[in-house]
This record gives sequence, C-alpha cells and structure tokens, in this order.
Amino acid sequence: MNATYSTETVLAHEGRAHNQLGAPVNPPVYRQSTLLFHSLEALKTASGTPNAYGRGGSPTTRALENALARLEGAYRAMLTPSGLSAITTSLLALLGPGDHLLMTDSVYDPTRSFCAETLARLGIETTYYDPSIGEDIETLMQPNTRAVFVESPGSLTFEVQDIPAISRIAHRHGAIVLMDNTWATPLHFRSFEHGVDVSIHAATKYISGHSDVMMGVILTTETLFPKINRFYRQLGMTVSGDDAYLALRGLRTLSVRLERHQRNAHELTQWLAQQPEVAQILYPARPGSPGHALWRRDFTGASGLFGVVLHPQSDDAMRAMLDGMTCFGMGYSWGGFESLILRSSAARYRTATQWPWDGPLLRIHAGLEHPDDMIADLEAGFARLRAVASVQAEV
Ligand SMILES: *Cc1c(COP(=O)(O)O)cnc(C)c1O
Repeated sequence: MNATYSTETVLAHEGRAHNQLGAPVNPPVYRQSTLLFHSLEALKTASGTPNAYGRGGSPTTRALENALARLEGAYRAMLTPSGLSAITTSLLALLGPGDHLLMTDSVYDPTRSFCAETLARLGIETTYYDPSIGEDIETLMQPNTRAVFVESPGSLTFEVQDIPAISRIAHRHGAIVLMDNTWATPLHFRSFEHGVDVSIHAATKYISGHSDVMMGVILTTETLFPKINRFYRQLGMTVSGDDAYLALRGLRTLSVRLERHQRNAHELTQWLAQQPEVAQILYPARPGSPGHALWRRDFTGASGLFGVVLHPQSDDAMRAMLDGMTCFGMGYSWGGFESLILRSSAARYRTATQWPWDGPLLRIHAGLEHPDDMIADLEAGFARLRAVASVQAEV
C-alpha cells in the first residue's frame, strides 16, 4: 500500500484481502485451532512460530493488527481478549520484582486494582502521581523506576497530560512510557510521535464501535516488541477470527463515526454549560475546559466522551433525573454508536490528589443519535431533578 496515504485512506485500504483476481474486498473469517501441514519439513518450519497453531493468530487477526499498527505508527500490534488484558499483559511483560511504577492518579480504576493486588504481590511498587505533573515527574523518579503509565485524557475525569514532557524525563531516567490511549483512538493522538513506547487501547470502545466486541490491543515500538510479544504468547493471549473481523469492520468507519461523536459532544456540552446545575464541563476539546490548551497542542481531534460536574444534589434528585432517561442508556463502557450516561464518583478513586468538586459527576457518551433528541432527554431529566429539588427545598 502507498506509504503516503492519509488516515482516511489507510482506514479504507489497510487489512484488506490480497489482491487476487475476483477476490472479495474483505479478508475471510478464519476459525481455527488445528493447522495442518502436509510434510514433515513444512511442520518443522512452522514449529515454534505463531504459524504452527491456531492460538498464534490468523490472516483475519493479522489484518486487524496491521491496520492498527499502521494507523498509529507502531512497529507491531498484539490483540488481546479485552482492553484490561492489554494493560495487564503489557505491565507484567515489562516489570519484575523490585521494580517501581509511576501511575497517573486519573487511571481507569481496574488498572488501579491490578497494581494494588497483583503487582504488589509480585514485589512491584506503584506510586500514584498528579496527572498534571508534567516535567515535575522527575521528582518522583527512583533508581528502580522502570515505567511511567499515562492515561490522557483520564477516561473518568478528563485531565490531559503533558505526554512529551513526561516521556522526555522518563527516557532520561531509563524508564518506559505506557499509555492508555483509548479516548483519542489511534486517529487523534499519535502516541509514538509524542514519546510513548507502548500504546494500549480498549478496542471494545471506538475501534469496534458497535458495542458487540470485547477486545484490546497493545501497540509497540520495535525495541520493546520482542519482550512484550514473548510474554504475550506465554500467557496464551489470542482473539477469535469472528471478533477480529467485527473489529476490522468497525474500524473502517472510525473517522466518520468520530467526527459525528465529536460534533454531538460539542452540541451537548454547549447546551449543558447553560444549565444552572452545571458547575463544570470536563471536555478537553471545549474552550474553557481543563486541559484545553494541551489538547490543542497535542491532539488532532476528540471523541464523544466527556464529564459534567453538577452542583451538589440529593440522591433522590439524581435518581429522578437518571431513572427516566430514554435516549440515554445507563451502562459501563462507551465508544459504541449509542448514547450513555453514568453517575460516577471521582473522589473515591484518588490517592495522590484531591478531587476538587463536591457535586455529582456524570460521564456522558454522545452517541450517533440526533443531538435534538439527546438534548430533549437531558432537558426532561433536569426538569425531573428540579421538581424533586424544589420539593426538598420547601421541607
Ligand atoms: C473500557 C476501558 C478499558 C478496558 O477495556 P475492556 O475492553 O472493557 O477490558 C481500559 N481503559 C479505558 C480507558 C477504558 O475506558
């Protein structure tokens, strides 16, 4: 494929079936465990390589891996059964007893649990740092600091991190930078150009994009690939051809979907900012939101996930608002075509920093519905909240 193709063209062309005469556009779905060889010699050649057995991947999984690596400018990609397993596999591959890990305080909570239990049990120490630390990360570097983990923006609280500054310091001290890049997708944050060594995505989210696949991907530099890949294979990580096909099919429309998710998120935040109950919008792509300047400097676009901090509300008022939603569903995850709303608690997940807000935090995923319908749903929700709040104010 042409090396100068832009992102949209790569999305349409990479990972297709081979160009035989009369071949279908898409790669076939390989369902496989046993692979057969017709000579001792062929069996011997394949032995010990990923091509010997079904777990090692198929042309379907390879097509998706190649497309993802190409999109973000990685050397290679490895698919895992979930986003969380992409995170845990990378950390376990790179860290060992006695090592020290620096972890952003804004990290996705299951990553935090993994550090507190599994990494601690293996003698790997984790220190949490303020996501806005920038080059002051230097003050936390220890002689045994092997890795710095970043997630930007944080997928619950949306702080944007100064990845180039953090990478510069980490590398100077011989540490590796791992990034959970799920929010921006390979399209809107070119992690490797900003100094990241391992970029991780929950492909469950925008890459698949249709709320029907669980998958993760580890993208890495040429230097780190052999070490991570060896461990990845020893763990037995693999994904099915069916899931890889679905994810590749979702990937084809990533740029058009993101454009609409982003536009809808702008419309929703614009409307939300005018509601008297709203204390702060957390959407780095929006002027006035925390992290906007860094987002403008380093990102090429946004996705449709953002936070809204309300002024303090009673539980009854929040229940009245959220229980009656019709356009928005309540559920974990995001990045599919559908709109979601989730009440969350940021303060509960902090150890290095203090969460500055005391009102409820809503995490909203702007889906692909018409923004008028989403806004009408929110408007009715705020009306229910106000009705409860005004009765409570009377008693
Ligand atoms: C969802 C998510 C994950 C985990 O992905 P799963 O596929 O659900 O395991 C990791 N990081 C972030 C930022 C996520 O939003």
